[in-house]
Amino acid sequence: MNKKLSNKIRSRIRKAIRDYSMFDQSNRILVASSGGKDSMILTYYLLELGYKPDLLFIDLGIPEFSEKSLIPIQEFSEKHGLSLYVESALKNVRFTIHEIADDYNDSICSVCGSVKRKIFNRFASQYKYDVLLTGHNMDDEVRFLFSNNKKWNWAYLKKSVPVLEAKNGFTKRAKPLAYVRETETLQAIQTLSIPHAQIKCPFVKSGNQDKYHNILTVSEREFPGFINEYYFNFLKNYKPLSQYDDQPILQPCKLCGDMTSSEICKVCRVHKRNWRKNKIN
Ligand code: SF4
Ligand code: ZN
Repeated sequence: MNKKLSNKIRSRIRKAIRDYSMFDQSNRILVASSGGKDSMILTYYLLELGYKPDLLFIDLGIPEFSEKSLIPIQEFSEKHGLSLYVESALKNVRFTIHEIADDYNDSICSVCGSVKRKIFNRFASQYKYDVLLTGHNMDDEVRFLFSNNKKWNWAYLKKSVPVLEAKNGFTKRAKPLAYVRETETLQAIQTLSIPHAQIKCPFVKSGNQDKYHNILTVSEREFPGFINEYYFNFLKNYKPLSQYDDQPILQPCKLCGDMTSSEICKVCRVHKRNWRKNKIN
């Protein structure tokens, strides 16, 4: 990869870490590692910047995909002497994504996202990490903003900032790649020798995220620099949005004790095959 791009990615990560006081050398940091390009790029540059994060991989129980996604993380963590932890969905929430896939069809990614958030957060708070890092890049954030702009969903729009402070039992979360474009992580992974999973999840669907991706691709073509400008203008104007208090009132889930906006959290409702209702059978 040309040195210029590598320097740019490194300095953008360093700037995001500083701008949002994400963490410093004294903090215990945990990377949510999927084996995909973004979490691997993130880990690579954290090492370059002198951090030594721990890695957590979640075995979702998706045949072939889960096993193959773990391999590059094992390879990378062994090479660089990083601690890698593996937690399984089966042990933590008592079902695998594979076994519920037929029942949840179109909403499988939403359930899977909730399972991953629950396990990452539980692990981070149990083992007292200061911050949980995810590999979301600028394009991920802009897609998310765009989809929530349609409904002007303030509670969700607010989540697109690079840092979400610890609150209500949730560990602080940070996205050090928030200033880095997807094209840049793609170029970096192709040219640096960083192992990463190349297998696609069998449940990935061409859903709304792909449609938003297409809209943004056209916007970027018609107005070069659109994504960058859109995201940085959002961050510049974030202050009034941050004061908008529309957070749902959280309470401990009656089954697992994790904080949730309903009586029973989404993951426990899935476990009880009661996904669309908010009450116990
Ligand atoms: Fe989970 Fe959907 Fe990602 Fe597959 S594509 S790992 S089901 S979120
Ligand atoms: Zn629960």
